[in-house]
Amino acid sequence: LSSRLFQPENTIIQLPHSTIGGEQFTMMAGPCSVESAEHILAMAKVAKEGGATLLRGGAYKPRTSPYSFQGMGEAGLKALRQAADATGMDVITEVMDETHVALIAQYTDVFQIGARNMQNFSLLKAVGQTNIPVALKRGLAATVDDLLNAAEYIAANGNHQIMLLERGIRTFDNQYTRNTFDLNAVPVLQKLSHYPVVVDPSHATGEWDLVTPMARAGVATGASGMMVEIHDHPEAAFSDGPQALKPATYLEMCRQIWAIDQLM
Ligand code: PEP
Ligand code: MN
Repeated sequence: LSSRLFQPENTIIQLPHSTIGGEQFTMMAGPCSVESAEHILAMAKVAKEGGATLLRGGAYKPRTSPYSFQGMGEAGLKALRQAADATGMDVITEVMDETHVALIAQYTDVFQIGARNMQNFSLLKAVGQTNIPVALKRGLAATVDDLLNAAEYIAANGNHQIMLLERGIRTFDNQYTRNTFDLNAVPVLQKLSHYPVVVDPSHATGEWDLVTPMARAGVATGASGMMVEIHDHPEAAFSDGPQALKPATYLEMCRQIWAIDQLM
């Protein structure tokens, strides 16, 4: 179902305020975590100003340590939905557990499946049984075929609105970057599959000053969209502060991204 041999035409995902996989590049931005109603609204305004049409923010966070901030839960979903509605944006947020699918479905326009859950097959089946689009992130050490097989689980359960996210993979050198941004994967996935491919230079690099150059490279691959993390006070962020772009940096990055997109 995921193969170009099965479906030659690109899959296009239409949301109220966004199109993913169409002619236009799609920007998704927001903080790593929803931290409060006021904060997510302020970040939504910044995201929108840069041209984003999807607001991201985690209310259920897949933290490496159980002692790190785990997310605001349903209160976070409510705040995220309100901020997106107030600014005219769509919502993308992570679902970590199949038992949360029905609840999160009430608030989101796109389910994000995180890298750590890419092969959580019961979760993939559960989102596959909904009609809400799914953004599937490549696993920490997943091959392209692993990613496509994970997408196939969603499609095989009846949901064909899938986008694939390249967010960096583990390689032998993680001294200066959190992950290795596998930009090869973009044209490879586009060749093998009809699903839109989205790049995430924030998790791919892990360092805010590396995000803009790799974002430029990401749009130049011909990806359909980008997800980027922003925060007004990264040093105080509840998660992923080191990779968050401050508003002014984000807006300048967006200026460059839209300029490159114009050339393509
Ligand atoms: C995130 O988007 O904040 C996130 C946890 O991403 P990943 O699953 O790619 O690590
Ligand atoms: Mn994050």
